[in-house]
Amino acid sequence: MLVLGSATPSLESYQAALSGRIGRLLLPERVAGAELPPVSVVDMREENRDTKRYNYLSRALRRALHETIERREQAILFLNRRGFATVITCLHCGHTEKCERCDITLTSHRSRETITCHYCGFEKPVPKVCAECKSPGVKFWGQGTERVEEEVRKVFPEARIARMDSDTMTRREAYLETLGAFRAGRIDVLVGTQMIAKGLDFPNVTLVGIVLADTALHMPDFRSRERTFQLLEQVAGRAGRGSKGGRVIVQTYLPHDVSVKEARDHDYEGFCLNELRERQAFYYPPFSRLARVLVRGKDKEKALAAAKEAGVLLRAEAKKIEGRRIEVLGPSPAPIAMLDGAHRFHLMVKAPDGETIAAVFNGAAAEALSKLKGAESVVDIDPLGML
Ligand SMILES: [Zn+2]
Ligand SMILES: [Zn+2]
Repeated sequence: MLVLGSATPSLESYQAALSGRIGRLLLPERVAGAELPPVSVVDMREENRDTKRYNYLSRALRRALHETIERREQAILFLNRRGFATVITCLHCGHTEKCERCDITLTSHRSRETITCHYCGFEKPVPKVCAECKSPGVKFWGQGTERVEEEVRKVFPEARIARMDSDTMTRREAYLETLGAFRAGRIDVLVGTQMIAKGLDFPNVTLVGIVLADTALHMPDFRSRERTFQLLEQVAGRAGRGSKGGRVIVQTYLPHDVSVKEARDHDYEGFCLNELRERQAFYYPPFSRLARVLVRGKDKEKALAAAKEAGVLLRAEAKKIEGRRIEVLGPSPAPIAMLDGAHRFHLMVKAPDGETIAAVFNGAAAEALSKLKGAESVVDIDPLGML
């Protein structure tokens, strides 16, 4: 027997339970009878309008932090993005600094003299003037964990603050030391990425602030709402694990998104039922199985021609299989259209089950896909990410 355990099971597991393929055991109560923490949502558009400035920390979150620190309780601030500024734009001509090898904006880090690509590691010096128009009005926008840490230090100079992300936690001991210090009460506010989202159990944490819930929602992926919901639920679950209770403040520019609303209400069932309806309408898992074919090459024209060829091959293969719903989508430019110097296109195959997917890829198409001219192809069955 195999037992899968999660506070937020995937929609695949949920659907399998609904259809009776797997059994479902519920633990409706939290450990030691604690209540799930109340969640309030702050609309950052309104916040910025009211205060006439761009805010990283809303008034509600500042107030809550202040109260928490004063009561000698602890807070966790979560943001799924590291670095300082995540977008660097010229105010004069609008030019945005991007990686030379990837179609990705560069991120600045406080402690470094360079701006870097989080995908391929490309680095260049921090620009003093715009690379395009030479104007000095280069603005560092966007927020990463470094920016949030700095903001908290500014507003609460007395507070003891630590940051946990892959930039500060380069050694395993650093991770254990920081968690040890937090557990011992030597840190008031812990700022971090998904590294702090799961599993941590600190009874003195009475406030969790989700600095920006939207980061995952903007991902071009059919699972982005599910990931956002899961992340919000997991992070929220860090608050109020002890007898003092807790609360969660979620900052967002998309307060009406269902994943934000249903996470606020801790409505896992409601979220799943809505999301399953959407998935069914668009023939996405768990109602289909997916394969993604990524075609990439240094020469854009050749890569596109190869991707089109792959489309022809896959459609021909799908036609040979009768009586099953097989859809071949694409080619289209991948969400990250260029990565590490290669141009990228992708295709999606949807089929009712794994057997059908295997039939599509085991035929003559697989052989031909491996011999595309001027590009290489990678087949990913049941892809978890589609960038
Ligand atoms: Zn410019
Ligand atoms: Zn890059």
